[in-house]
Amino acid sequence: MPASTESDILDRPVRFLKGVGEKRASVWAEAHQVRTVRDLLHFYPRRYLDRSTVASIRQLTEGPDPVTVVGTVQYARVVDGRSTKRLELVVEGADGGRMKAVWFRGFRWVQRAFEAGDRVAFHGKVQRFGRWFSMTHPDYDRLDAAEARLDTGRIVALYPGGEAMDNVGLTSRRVRRIVYTFFKEHGLELRDPFPETLRSTFDLMDGRVARRAIHFPKTQAELARATVRLKFEELFYIQLLLATLRAQRSAVPGAVFGAPQPLLTRFVNEVLPFELTSAQREALKDVIADTQSGHQMNRLVQGDVGSGKTVVAVAAMLHAWSHGYQSAFMAPTEILAEQHHHSLKQYLAPLDLAPALLTGSQGAAERREAQAALAEGTVPVGVGTHALIQDDVAFDRLGLAIVDEQHRFGVEQRATMFEKGERPHMLLMTATPIPRSLAMTLYGDLDVSIMDEMPAGRKPVETRLRTEKRRGEVYAFLRDQLAQGRQAYVVYPLVEESEKVDLKDAVSGYEALQAQFPEATVGLVHGQLPTDEKDDVMRRFKAGAIDLLVSTTVIEVGVDVANATVMIIEHAERFGLSQLHQLRGRVGRSDQQSYCILMAGYKQSAEAKQRLQAMARTNDGFEISEVDLKIRGAGDFFGTRQSGLPDLKIADITQDQDILEEARAAAQQIVAQDPQLRDPAHADIRTHFERYYVRRDLDFARVG
Ligand code: ADP
Ligand code: MG
Repeated sequence: MPASTESDILDRPVRFLKGVGEKRASVWAEAHQVRTVRDLLHFYPRRYLDRSTVASIRQLTEGPDPVTVVGTVQYARVVDGRSTKRLELVVEGADGGRMKAVWFRGFRWVQRAFEAGDRVAFHGKVQRFGRWFSMTHPDYDRLDAAEARLDTGRIVALYPGGEAMDNVGLTSRRVRRIVYTFFKEHGLELRDPFPETLRSTFDLMDGRVARRAIHFPKTQAELARATVRLKFEELFYIQLLLATLRAQRSAVPGAVFGAPQPLLTRFVNEVLPFELTSAQREALKDVIADTQSGHQMNRLVQGDVGSGKTVVAVAAMLHAWSHGYQSAFMAPTEILAEQHHHSLKQYLAPLDLAPALLTGSQGAAERREAQAALAEGTVPVGVGTHALIQDDVAFDRLGLAIVDEQHRFGVEQRATMFEKGERPHMLLMTATPIPRSLAMTLYGDLDVSIMDEMPAGRKPVETRLRTEKRRGEVYAFLRDQLAQGRQAYVVYPLVEESEKVDLKDAVSGYEALQAQFPEATVGLVHGQLPTDEKDDVMRRFKAGAIDLLVSTTVIEVGVDVANATVMIIEHAERFGLSQLHQLRGRVGRSDQQSYCILMAGYKQSAEAKQRLQAMARTNDGFEISEVDLKIRGAGDFFGTRQSGLPDLKIADITQDQDILEEARAAAQQIVAQDPQLRDPAHADIRTHFERYYVRRDLDFARVG
C-alpha cells in the first residue's frame, strides 16, 4: 500500500476547499449531502448546456420530449384564467423568437427568482397555445452572460440547486469554479481505483480523467465515455458486495439430501391431482440439485400469484423428510399459516403424514402438543407464523426452512430461522415478480427460480375499466355472479394519511351494497378492526358464509378463496400497479371465469392512465412489474430503504442494464480470482469497498 492513500484527499471536508467556507458547506450538506471531497466529486451535473443541445426558440415545435432553450426574461405577469390563475414569463431567445414559461403554483417564489433581463436556461416539454409556444413548470437555471452566449465552445455543467443553495451563492457557476479549483490544486492526488487489466477488459476510461470530464467535458463523446465509466464504477461495488456474499454463502456447508426417494415420486405422481407445470418441475430440480451440493441452499422462488409455489414447497419438504430432515414453513399471518396447514394436511394425508401448526393464538394444550411433535421428530413439518421462531420451539432435525411471502419478513427474522438447528437450507418464496434488472441487484446474492407459467386450464382473469356512469351495469353483472353462487370482493383504497376518510368510503360503500344487494350477505373488513375480528370475517368469507366482502386493502396476499370470481376495485386510479395486480390475483383461482373491474374516476393523471391500461392489457406479473418500474423509476419501485436498493448517484438500474451486466461480470471475476482483495492491484477497490459497503451491510451479509 502506498504511504498516503487516495482516501486522505477524498475524505477531506469541502469546507476547507477554496470558495466554500462554513456557511456554504452547511447548506451544501443540508441540501445535497455534500460533505467531503468524495461527495463533491459525486455531485453530478443535472444537465449540460452546449450549442449542439440547445434548441432555437424561433424554431420550437410541439413534442413529447423535453428540450432546452436559453433566453432573456422580458416580463412576468399573472393571468386570471377562467378557472385558475397562472404566472407567465415571456422569454426571448438570441434569435429573436419568443416563448412563455408558465406556472400554476408557487408564483411568489417564481416572481422573486426572475427579473427582466435575466438570462435563463429552461428545460421542459413544449406545447402550443394559439400562436405561443410554452413550457409548463419548466426546470430552469439562471445563467451569467458568458454562459448564456453559448459561444465558449464548452459544454457547461448545470448542477442541482434550490433556494437555499441560491441564497448562499452556490449557483452552478460557483460550483463549477469550486470543482475547477479543486482539480487544479489536487487533481494529481486522485487515483484510479481500477487496475489497468480491469479497465482494458471492459474498455473503460481512466478513472481520473472520467472524474474530471463529468464536470468539464470537452466533447459529447468524452462526456459519454466518462458517464459510462462512472456508472460502471458505481454498479461495480454493489455487484462486488453481492458476489462476495454469494461466495461466503456457498462456503457454508449444507446438509446433503441426496437423490429423490419414492416418497417424493409418490407425491408428484400419485397424490397430486394434476401434472406439475414445467416451471414447477424446474424449480423442484433446482432445489434437489442445491440440497445435493454440500453447500447451504439460498434459493428464491419468484412466481406470480397462483403459479403454484406451495406445491413446490411441499415437494421440497417431502424431499427433506425422505432424507431424515424436518422442515419449517413460515407464513407472515395467521390466516396464511392456517391456510397452508390446511392444504398441507390434505397433501400429506395420503402419505400417512401430518403437519404441526404453531400460531400465536392457539390454545396452550394444542401448542404444547405441536411443540412436542416437532421436538421428538415425529412430524415432517411445522407450519406457522413468527411463533415458529420463538425460543421454546425446537426441532429434532431441521433441514429446510421455507419462507412464504418472504418480503414480509425482516432480515432478523430470517436470520433467526437460519440459526435454528443446523443452519437449514433456505427456500424463499415471493409472489411479487421483479424485473430482471432489479432482481440482479436486489436478489443478486440469491439463486433464483422463476415460475413464469400458470397451471393449465386456468382461465386468465378478464379485466375491465369502468367509470361511474356504468355502475348500474357493473352491479347488474355482480348480481348475476352472486346468483350463480359466486363470491366477490369490493376493495377501497387506503391511504395512510387519511385513514379515517378512506374508512368512511369503505363503510358507506358497505352500507350502499347492503341496500343494493339485500339477497346477499355482505361483510366488511378493514385495518382498524382488531386482528381476531378481521380473521373471523376472512374465515367466514372463506367458508362461504359471506358472499360479498367489502374491504380496505387489508385482504391478505395469498388468501385463497377459489369460489370468489369477482374483484371490484373502487378508485382504482389511486392504487399502485403492483398492488392492483396483487389484488387481481385474489380471483382467478379456479377453473371458473373470473373478472376484475377497475372503477376509476374521470380525472386521472397520465401515470394512473398508464397503470390502468397496463392492467387491462396483461395478466403477466413480470410484464406488469416492468411497466411499473418504467413508470416509477427504480428508486421508487419499492421505496429505496425497504427494498435494500442502493442509493445511486449516476447509474439507473432500469436504463443501464448493459453496464450493469458488465459490472456484474467484472465483480464476479475479481471475487473468483481474489476473494479477499489481497492483491495490491485491488488495494483501492478494497479500501472503498470496506469503507462504504461491507460494514454497512454486515447484517445483510448474515442471511438471505
Ligand atoms: P401460489 O402460492 O403460487 O400463489 P398455490 O401454490 O397456492 O399458488 O397454487 C394455487 C392453486 O393452483 C392451488 O389451488 C393449487 O392446488 C393449484 N395448482 C398448483 N399447481 C398446479 C398445477 N400444476 N396444475 C393445476 N393446478 C395447480
Ligand atoms: Mg402462495
